Amino acid sequence: MMSESVDMEVLIVGAGPVGLTLAIDLAWRGIDVTVVETRAPAEPPEPKCNHVAARTMEIFRRLGLAEKVRNSGLPADYPHDISYRTTFTG
Ligand SMILES: Cc1cc2nc3c(=O)[nH]c(=O)nc-3n(C[C@H](O)[C@H](O)[C@H](O)COP(=O)(O)OP(=O)(O)OC[C@H]3O[C@@H](n4cnc5c(N)ncnc54)[C@H](O)[C@@H]3O)c2cc1C
Repeated sequence: MMSESVDMEVLIVGAGPVGLTLAIDLAWRGIDVTVVETRAPAEPPEPKCNHVAARTMEIFRRLGLAEKVRNSGLPADYPHDISYRTTFTG
């Protein structure tokens, strides 16, 4: 069995939104981060998100990513209105 030692300050396991956001935040603070991921290189993640919360966008804004995230989503004029009904009559 081969063993190799790697020096790092922080090891993040999983390049999902949480791991990647943490990695960017720590790197932004000058902390040496390594991210490991089981997905093959260039294999896209399974998309599981259609809305990003306002608080998450605040964090993305602080990291300088908000515009990029917003522009990769639906067009700005796409309606997001939701109507909850408890009754329906024709
Ligand atoms: C159907 C669905 C719809 C959703 N819609 C929304 C939405 O609209 N808005 C929203 O904000 N959230 C939504 N969520 C929730 C959101 O997807 C999760 O909160 C978010 O993905 C969690 O991020 P994460 O980084 O913790 O985990 P994950 O996204 O699960 O990422 C974990 C990563 O770790 C990797 N990994 C796992 N094990 C290992 C290992 N042993 N070694 C290395 N890497 C490993 C995986 O391959 C993966 O890339 C939705 C979830 C689901 C299931």
